[in-house]
Amino acid sequence: MNSTCVTLTLDGEVAVIAMNKPPVNGLGFELRSGIVEALDEATANAAVKAIVLTGTARAFSGGADVTEFGTPNAAREPNLRVVIAALEASAKPVVAAIAGQCLGGGLELALGAHFRVALPDASLGLPEVKLGLLPGAGGTQRLPRLIGLEAALNVIVFGAPVAAAKFKGTPLIDELIEGDLLAGASAFARKVVAASLPLKRARDIKLREPNAQALLQFARNTVAAGAKGFPAPLKCIDAVANAISQPFDEGMRLEREAFMALMLTPESRALRHVFAAERAAAKLPDVPADTKLRDIKSVGVIGAGTMGGGITMNFLNAGLPVVLLEMKQEALDKGLATIRRNYENSMKKGKLTPAQVEQRMALVTPTLAYDSFKDADLVIEAVFENMDVKQTVFRTLDEVCKPGAILASNTSYLDLDKIAAFTKRPQDVVGLHFFSPANVMRLLEVVRGAKTAPDVLATSMALAKKIKKIAVVSGVCDGFIGNRMLARYGAAANGLVNAGALPQQIDGALQKFGMAMGPFRMGDLAGLDIGWATRKRKAAEAGVDMNPMVADKLCEAGRFGQKTGAGWYRYEAGKRDPIPDTVTGQLIAQYRLDAGITPRKVGDDEVVERCMFALVNEGARILDEGIAARASDIDIVYLNGYGYPLQRGGPMLYADGVGLPNVVRALKRFAAEPGADASWQPAPLLVKLAEAGKSFN
Ligand code: NAD
Repeated sequence: MNSTCVTLTLDGEVAVIAMNKPPVNGLGFELRSGIVEALDEATANAAVKAIVLTGTARAFSGGADVTEFGTPNAAREPNLRVVIAALEASAKPVVAAIAGQCLGGGLELALGAHFRVALPDASLGLPEVKLGLLPGAGGTQRLPRLIGLEAALNVIVFGAPVAAAKFKGTPLIDELIEGDLLAGASAFARKVVAASLPLKRARDIKLREPNAQALLQFARNTVAAGAKGFPAPLKCIDAVANAISQPFDEGMRLEREAFMALMLTPESRALRHVFAAERAAAKLPDVPADTKLRDIKSVGVIGAGTMGGGITMNFLNAGLPVVLLEMKQEALDKGLATIRRNYENSMKKGKLTPAQVEQRMALVTPTLAYDSFKDADLVIEAVFENMDVKQTVFRTLDEVCKPGAILASNTSYLDLDKIAAFTKRPQDVVGLHFFSPANVMRLLEVVRGAKTAPDVLATSMALAKKIKKIAVVSGVCDGFIGNRMLARYGAAANGLVNAGALPQQIDGALQKFGMAMGPFRMGDLAGLDIGWATRKRKAAEAGVDMNPMVADKLCEAGRFGQKTGAGWYRYEAGKRDPIPDTVTGQLIAQYRLDAGITPRKVGDDEVVERCMFALVNEGARILDEGIAARASDIDIVYLNGYGYPLQRGGPMLYADGVGLPNVVRALKRFAAEPGADASWQPAPLLVKLAEAGKSFN
């Protein structure tokens, strides 16, 4: 054997082929060729009567080797289908011995064996659909033959892994092994030899299912309702249907064809991009992976308002005790009551038991005194967005917190370096920017100050994972990654209103594009008064008169959004459905008149182009300035914090798909319009990439 990651050992008449390529036996070229080599050697050895194929305790195999994607080795023979066919064709019985992950190509490999034994908790699944694909190495043809149509549809169309024990009694699992897997597998192989059991080849099984058409139709209906423009689930059903209607080899050919076609879809491209992007986001280029983390066993939260309450819930959910501080008892009581009400709503939906609600509530200690933070390992402030207030808070934290405690701010826009400078320990200060509602939204921007220590960053990233957030590191700038881009997006949308569109048209066009919510609905939800206050503050700081925009006129009229029953839209009492309002139309018309604008017709395509390219252009600047480490980090921010459509993979991947030269050309056109804002000038990085024929990703 030449392979470095496959071994062949003899145990009497049983040959054991063991895969060992950390972390999860990804089926790259080395492993594929090693398996075939070992199989040939075992076949040629007359003393061998049966073969056991196994992996490690962690994984039989987690599937394709993701690090090989896009390299020449990905297509190098033997490909996975060839390896599986070789196992299946073996004249000597092959037993797959499964522990840990047995997913995707890993499960397909096991399906090529004649028998399978597994630990009860081994995790079996075909998750390809989650990457917008279908199993491309026979999974759609062999699995239905082994577990039946309905069970196979569940595994293939939804992609969730299932414990091996659940397949007891089906031809998928011949024996569940308690204890030593390899000893059990060898014993099973000897039984096969002793009894001269016929080799069970999945391909030879004739799949019979009297209710096939009804089951397939039911699956199609279910998927059509939930797939939201993703083609893969339906293609999975079609492929499984072939296992009934077509001979095996034809089913395999059709599966391959469908797999290749799905590979080329923008949806699969987006899902694969997101898969890789989420993993990349966790890696900090200049913070070693083995950085020693700080221990976080208790948390303090300051402010029990909108954000503080939600932030607190994250830690209670993860079993971490929280000391929650407010200025007044009344605010504290109100904050606690909201947390309890949220939990009780979850309980009513059956997501929590009454005991779990009490367990969580018991973990929170309300306080009015900063002294209560003296033992906290981490304190997060979510007080008013005002530098003077932040100053008071951080000065006090510096006095009361123990050395080494992490001091975090949830600020949306303020300069984290200034905040850090209020303390004598700026290395311990970090931004932890949650998104509203903080107990629901998956995104966390971890804001790295100029002096933030590497272990504080690494600890923040690990903590994010613990509370089930997806964290992206951002440098310090106005609004960090997400809100800084959002400002340009909002400006583009407002510019379109000024030019001639109505909020409902813009929201409609962007929602058709796939955004969860258009910018004006979002503004009404978040409250228009926040932006109004910021603009007033900035004008005052700059010592200039504010030039009110339509949003300011709405606020002047007391229309702050949903909370006042009207903003861009109006709302009926107790309802959240936005109703287009003539009052808004009149305010807009007056604004245009005052500004000397003759309204023009704006097309939906223009809406999407301007709003998306505004995001992309600012994203390019953010990337160029090193505020974001990678374009894919920006995509993760937009997908998880701003309702960007998953099937498009984020604004930067969207721009790659459109073609960067096209983006630049459009931006130049916008920038050349009379009175155009300077921000429409294409970002230098964007121009550079476009000219070099490159993309962001
Ligand atoms: P909020 O007004 O709902 O809550 C702020 C709370 O802080 C209030 O309950 C107030 O009583 C309390 N507070 C104020 N000063 C305090 C002090 N010195 N000590 C103790 N408590 C004090 O505000 P919010 O929306 O939760 O925002 C809080 C912070 O989070 C701000 O920095 C904001 O920019 C940021 N943020 C808000 C959102 C959002 O969507 N609301 C999203 C991300 C970040």
